[in-house]
Amino acid sequence: MSTPDFTDLLEANARYRERFGLTGFDGIAQAGVAMVTCMDSRIEPLEMIGLRTGDAKIIRTPGGRITPDALVGCVLGVHLLGVTRILVVPHTRCAMASGEDADVIDRVRRETGQDLSDMHLGASTDQRARLVEDVDLLRTHPHVGERATVGGFLYDVDSGELQQLL
Ligand SMILES: [Zn+2]
Repeated sequence: MSTPDFTDLLEANARYRERFGLTGFDGIAQAGVAMVTCMDSRIEPLEMIGLRTGDAKIIRTPGGRITPDALVGCVLGVHLLGVTRILVVPHTRCAMASGEDADVIDRVRRETGQDLSDMHLGASTDQRARLVEDVDLLRTHPHVGERATVGGFLYDVDSGELQQLL
């Protein structure tokens, strides 16, 4: 099946398959690393820490927050996929740190007319406080804390610098 909206991408995939060389990998994080970071298109999670395909579990959420599914990913990563270090990586100029939920909901209403007020988005201008919460959540979690070292970082999308804050 192929619908017109995805044709360009499937054509690109056909070219990708011709040079595909990643067969034989298992699902283990070879470098023992997991990173939770934002869905932002300016972020290259593996490249920024010198890793490559196969090395790490990359979990992406809006804002790089430890959402319930991200937490599940960390727990499974630690227990089944070789993860011993977890980086929580929000970033500068993140839309999720540009305002509170009400501000983001207002912005969507202005841009598309849609009302998202029935959703919890998790936006917050206090990015550092959210990072403290998320790192604490992992460090104190009974299924994560004793099995992995957890660090809190900030990635600068303008310079490429990754700075450890926690
Ligand atoms: Zn972001």
